Amino acid sequence: MVWPSGHLDVESASGGRFGSDTQALMGEWADLLAWMEGSEPASAGAIEPSELGPPLPRPRQVFAIGLNYAEHAEEAGHLREGVPQVFTKFPSCLAGPNARVSVASPRLDWEVELVVAVGAEASAVEAENAWSVVAGLMVGQDLSARDVQLAGAAPQWSLGKSFAGFGPTGPALVPLANLDRPDDLAIECLLNGERVQHARTSQMVWPVPELVARLSAVCTLYPGDLIFTGTPAGVGNRRQPPRYLAEGDLLVSRIEGLGELSNTFCAVAG
Ligand code: ZN
Repeated sequence: MVWPSGHLDVESASGGRFGSDTQALMGEWADLLAWMEGSEPASAGAIEPSELGPPLPRPRQVFAIGLNYAEHAEEAGHLREGVPQVFTKFPSCLAGPNARVSVASPRLDWEVELVVAVGAEASAVEAENAWSVVAGLMVGQDLSARDVQLAGAAPQWSLGKSFAGFGPTGPALVPLANLDRPDDLAIECLLNGERVQHARTSQMVWPVPELVARLSAVCTLYPGDLIFTGTPAGVGNRRQPPRYLAEGDLLVSRIEGLGELSNTFCAVAG
C-alpha cells in the first residue's frame, strides 16, 4: 500500500507493541509495515521541523559510494573503472534534516545524495532481488572537508567526510511502496537559492541493486544500515574558481518523492 501523509506515534498507537526507537524498529520492519496496514496513519499534533533528528541515527554500518555519476567522475578527474569506490561516513557524523552545521573546514563542500536504508539482514544478495532488502529511501548530504579528504599520501575519504554534522539525512524514511520509480528520481542541490547540482538517480553508474549486490558480496548488511549512493556533478571544489560553504549559507538538498533537507552553516564554536 501507499502510506498516506501525516504522522502518528507508533509506540502509543500500537499500545507499546512497537517502541519509539526508529533504529530498533528497523529490525521489525516487515512486522511494522504489516501493522501499519491495519492502522490509520493520521496527523495528530504538529511536528516542529527543526526538532527532527536523522530518521536512522545509529546505523551499524554506513556505506558511501564515490564517483557514481559519470559527469561527476569526469569533473573529479577520474575515469570510470570496474568497481564502485566504497568508503564510510562514520555514524557520529549523522545529523537531522534541518541541522545547523559547523564550518569545520575552509574547504567544506556539498554533495547531495540518495540514501538507501537497508530493511533486512542480507548477504550475497543477487542484484535481481536487491530491492527486496531495501526498506526505503531518504535524502542525504555527504558534506566533505576537501582539505582533510585529500591530505596525505592517499585520499582519506572517510575521515574527511565525518566531522560532526557532516551527514544530514531525512526528512523521513520513505517506504519503497510510496515510490512508483525508486530508480529514477530527480535529485538537486541549491546553495542560497542557486541550483548547483541536478540529475536523475537513473544516471548512476552503479544503480542501487548493483550496489546492494556488490556490498553484500563482502559485508553482511543489517537492518537500518545506510548506503550513501554518490553525488551528481556540480560540487564546489571542481568549479573555477572553487567554491566552498561558509557561515550563513543555506543548503537545500531535494529528491523527488522524498522531500528535502535544509541545512544552515555556522562558525565552529570556540
Ligand atoms: Zn559523496
